[in-house]
Amino acid sequence: MYEKGAVIDLEQHEQQFDWKGKIDIKSLELEELNRQLAEMGQPKFRGKQIYSWLHEKRVTSFDEMSNLPAALRQQLMERYYINRLCIIKKLVSKIDGTQKYLLRLKDNNCVEAVLMRYKYGNSVCISTQVGCRMGCKFCASTLAGWIRSLDVSEMLDEIYTLTQDSGERVSNVVLMGIGEPLDNYDNVMKFLRILSSPEGYNLSLRHLSLSTCGLVDKIYEFADQKLGLTLSISLHAPNDEIRSQTMPVNKRYPMEELLKACRYYFKQTGRRISFEYALIEGVNDELRHANELADRLKGMAAHVNLIPVNPVKERGFKRGSRQRIEAFQKALEARGVNATVRRELGADINAACGQLRREYDQQQG
Ligand code: SAH
Repeated sequence: MYEKGAVIDLEQHEQQFDWKGKIDIKSLELEELNRQLAEMGQPKFRGKQIYSWLHEKRVTSFDEMSNLPAALRQQLMERYYINRLCIIKKLVSKIDGTQKYLLRLKDNNCVEAVLMRYKYGNSVCISTQVGCRMGCKFCASTLAGWIRSLDVSEMLDEIYTLTQDSGERVSNVVLMGIGEPLDNYDNVMKFLRILSSPEGYNLSLRHLSLSTCGLVDKIYEFADQKLGLTLSISLHAPNDEIRSQTMPVNKRYPMEELLKACRYYFKQTGRRISFEYALIEGVNDELRHANELADRLKGMAAHVNLIPVNPVKERGFKRGSRQRIEAFQKALEARGVNATVRRELGADINAACGQLRREYDQQQG
């Protein structure tokens, strides 16, 4: 489907580095770094210098930190490692320039990240875990289960690597790749603080969305942080019966509890909720489902993002016709619920989440 030359296989560029037994310096917030440097007897300004090398200039070795004394660089090298990711595959869409990356982590696990080009700038979709344990029936990311959560530095490096590779700054970030961000809560919060710090990449949290399948306890915790980013809820059903069939998390946190937490999020942050709804033919895409959904969301500051389901071969779910999807959207709007159909990007490179990693792992045996 994609242009042959557009597949870049960088397997030969071995990027292994010495990390075992060392501290992950890129996962440290500025205050933590300051504290550790003070313990090493360093002057106060060093923390900021190093932090800027890591998050603003984004170097990959201590040797490049040219304003540090050589002895300190040596000391840092012995105690810390600078994480980095290796691009093992890159697919470029001929249709719209979307770039999908398969990235290798330090322990040889892989995750995916996608760069999408919009008029207003580049948006990057990142993974938060290796695999996922939420078990949604339509999703490719959960097929092989869950391996581990990503470190703070690994999530940052998804953005840094794509910035470096494209030569363009990222203006929007969505946490919608592999994994459940609220199942990696502490690391994700720290990632958000570092990414938005003025001494770092300085990305405004207003340009960030976090997508969750609905871990209600964590949504309350998150709402209380009042960070002002957009919360996307993967709803995908108009009632508990259908939702529990496709999303096991619904048995733990049924829809009414989830919607209550969403109202709380809006109260705390003033940000309207974005509901993701993947339309699956014959499962959740009848007009009565649209009407039921509209009734449930009535009065909420919400927006529904309709997604024609991405067929995953192991799952057997199908997408309905264009007309069916549009009829669903119209039914929601007729009842006063704001709804759009997501424009598909990277259709020729199969940007469905989790599929690239899965193919790769299967090839490796
Ligand atoms: N775990 C988080 C984020 C990762 S999934 C979450 O559940 O929100 C990112 C989005 O893609 C979610 O809305 C998810 O439900 C959706 N998704 C997963 N598989 C899909 C498929 N086959 N077709 C369409 N959307 C899918």
